[in-house]
Amino acid sequence: MRLADKVALITGAGSGIGREAALLFAQEGAKVVVVDVNAKGGQETVSLIRNAGGEATFTRADVSKASDAQAMIGFAETTYGKLNVLFNNAGIFPDQDGSVIETEEEVWDLVMNVNLKGVFLGCKYGIPALLRAGGGSVINTASFVALMGAATSQIAYTASKGGVLSMTREMAVEFARRNVRVNALCPGPVETPLLAALLSDPARRQRRLVHIPPGRLARAREIAQAALFLASDESSYINGATFTVDGGITAAYVTAE
Ligand code: NAD
Repeated sequence: MRLADKVALITGAGSGIGREAALLFAQEGAKVVVVDVNAKGGQETVSLIRNAGGEATFTRADVSKASDAQAMIGFAETTYGKLNVLFNNAGIFPDQDGSVIETEEEVWDLVMNVNLKGVFLGCKYGIPALLRAGGGSVINTASFVALMGAATSQIAYTASKGGVLSMTREMAVEFARRNVRVNALCPGPVETPLLAALLSDPARRQRRLVHIPPGRLARAREIAQAALFLASDESSYINGATFTVDGGITAAYVTAE
């Protein structure tokens, strides 16, 4: 088992990538703290894990609120005695986030608060817990959009993910000698509820598919597998990485027909 004896906290684990990661981490022996602002989704994930014979507990938190972020870390330590893996995965992608000249300031603030400040707060309270446990692994979810520009702009989302990348590098360097690794996961487009509205429009879907070398989106499980690797000791010398899992999008100029 690749995460035997580890305690892992995953934010946004009530859906999509976070849920798949929670299932996979538990299957690999981790005790999983499932965190989500949506209690129903989070509790469903816990049921799925328990039904499969794994160990997990849900705690509700809004990652953009300092008191909630602090409480979720405290919950992990109280419930399981320590924290070894922190997966800051929660994120939002509102449809009202678009071109810089159209996006409302409130939308910008909302996206920054969840996607960027949420990661900051997770690390602010989570890294001390990893240090108390003698070290650990932090995985911060960014996105391939932090690496490439798109004419189909989502300006606040893109900026928030760029911030996650630079924050990740800084923390990776600061804590490396204290046995804490910090990496950023950069998924390409994934078939999850996050993209449901966008992908339900065939034209918008096709506009994206044409740029993806394998000609399909990622499955949440495929991103969770990468998170599992970063969480486990198999990645012990991987630190400060921009870990891209995008089917080759960032390598492509012209894709095959
Ligand atoms: P999803 O919408 O399926 O799941 C996200 C979860 O986060 C939901 O359960 C939601 O309730 C939760 N959440 C939202 N705001 C929260 C908050 N303030 N506090 C706590 N929980 C909150 O999305 P997903 O596709 O699984 O995305 C997970 C991460 O991957 C996000 O950071 C997203 O930006 C990133 N990502 C997704 C894609 C994609 O194409 N789906 C691509 C690149 C990066």
